[in-house]
Amino acid sequence: MRMSKLYMPTIKEDPTNADVISNKLLVRAGMVRQLVSGVYSYMPLGNRVLKNVERIVREEQDAAGFQEVLMSALQPRELWEQSGRWADFGPEMFKLEDRKGREFCLGPTHEEYFTNFIKNELNSYKQLPLIIYQIQNKYRDERRPRAGLIRGREFLMKDAYNFDADEEGMIKSYELVWDSYVKIFDRLGFDYKVVQGDSGNMGGKVSHEFIAITSGGEAQIAYCKNCDFAATDEVAECITDEYNETGDKLEIEKVSTPNVKTIQELNEYFDLPKKKFVKTLLYKTEEEVIAVMIPGDRELNLVKFSKFLNVHPDSIEMLEEHEINKLTGSYLGFVGPFGLKESVRLIADSRVKSMNNFIVGANEIDYHLKNANISDDFECEIANDLLNARVGDICPSCGEKIDINTGIEVGNIFQLGTKYSTALDATYLDKNGKAQHFWMGSHGIGVSRIIAALVEQNHDDRGIIWPLCVAPYKAIVTVVNSKNQEMTDLGNEIYETLKNKGVEVLIDDRKERAGVKFSEMDLIGIPLRIVVGRKANEKIVEYSTRKDMEKEEITSNEAIERVLKALE
Ligand SMILES: [Zn+2]
Repeated sequence: MRMSKLYMPTIKEDPTNADVISNKLLVRAGMVRQLVSGVYSYMPLGNRVLKNVERIVREEQDAAGFQEVLMSALQPRELWEQSGRWADFGPEMFKLEDRKGREFCLGPTHEEYFTNFIKNELNSYKQLPLIIYQIQNKYRDERRPRAGLIRGREFLMKDAYNFDADEEGMIKSYELVWDSYVKIFDRLGFDYKVVQGDSGNMGGKVSHEFIAITSGGEAQIAYCKNCDFAATDEVAECITDEYNETGDKLEIEKVSTPNVKTIQELNEYFDLPKKKFVKTLLYKTEEEVIAVMIPGDRELNLVKFSKFLNVHPDSIEMLEEHEINKLTGSYLGFVGPFGLKESVRLIADSRVKSMNNFIVGANEIDYHLKNANISDDFECEIANDLLNARVGDICPSCGEKIDINTGIEVGNIFQLGTKYSTALDATYLDKNGKAQHFWMGSHGIGVSRIIAALVEQNHDDRGIIWPLCVAPYKAIVTVVNSKNQEMTDLGNEIYETLKNKGVEVLIDDRKERAGVKFSEMDLIGIPLRIVVGRKANEKIVEYSTRKDMEKEEITSNEAIERVLKALE
């Protein structure tokens, strides 16, 4: 492709609304554009990257024996009513009506659709197992679309569904998909971890997430450097002995703490470490008000908390200031577990139980209680683990210390069991002619999100560094001065030779200043580079890769060989 003809609308400055590096670079490199919040368009270079990622995903899924289909994004409400998810998805679902008033959604996922499809098409155990997938746009009306392609409202996804005769078959299919994912993410060159996931509203019991490790990611994961333990922060068990204290339990005592509210302020006021304080947090669900006690230097994990309460995480809300005042007579910062109304359900994380003589709010403005203890005469429920794991906690698998990092979820796999086949009454006939529900799984890969995750992992301050396998073009020939005939001739010669050998190659034949050409060459991140400059008359060029940027002067023929060799 001649860059003089290429539609590549690059931008010099960072776009103002871009919050992550991948979004900045993709927009600046003229690869994507935002239409409205969370909705993106792909320019020629960006579209080529997208197609390359799609191709790798497709090749590996096909190689594993999965079959590609394509369903509609438009799904009728009835399907979702059967699983109960029309309501469960809530405002995250894009809903619309046809001219006759029939309701539809733009598919955020396709479990109901595929289950219903198979129910009508497949009826014998002889046709099982079956794994089918599609690569298609999905729609989710995110409350706050962000991070460019990482959390958009329209995104390209690969979703696969397996249909098996029994649990054993489902687990086998799960492992097949897992292996295929490992091949895909290895091929893409990702630094990633496979973690136990939280099944959220998918409804299964076992799930795993494939997380690309990057500092800009929104998923928090805990992992061990010593063994293969890894889990999302939503489920990572917090194991610690930091709060195991022994010694005499002292008499509880009220102390004046004028205007001392936060754990930080308490820490300074008492000159005691933060872990000597206990936070009492007030939440409400539709049914009740809950006070939950955790160590002062820890954070409550809402997913674990909601599981303990057996409610959906979205249905838990913090109390507002006026509600706190009505309930306790004090304000945030002075709330404690003693003297709460009987209607309040009191729960403590198990670590609080092992603490000795800690400090809590007195439910009175400007007062705290010291020497508090959870003793036998103090009624409260104990939850084993409601805390976020943090660096230095103990690995549940090997006992070493864990680490925490952020990442981007690029794939997930779920064992669904018979949840959807039961809800939609999808059955097959077994050997004895008896109707049985399918055992299912669903498995996603965020195809467009992968682009952003790759840029997060592969860039420097000059721009993107595409891995060869997804690069929009593999090589670029830069003619330093397009007005110089010798440079132009040699550039064309190299370009034509590479093109004839089947290499996806760009030639920068634009009448731009050399500085512009060089900086854009770095920005768009083409992996293999040949610069034709002042030694064109001797057939000497500069060869480098985008990754290490080390320039070598070699002959044009050698440079061509280098490119071909790199692509072998
Ligand atoms: Zn470990």
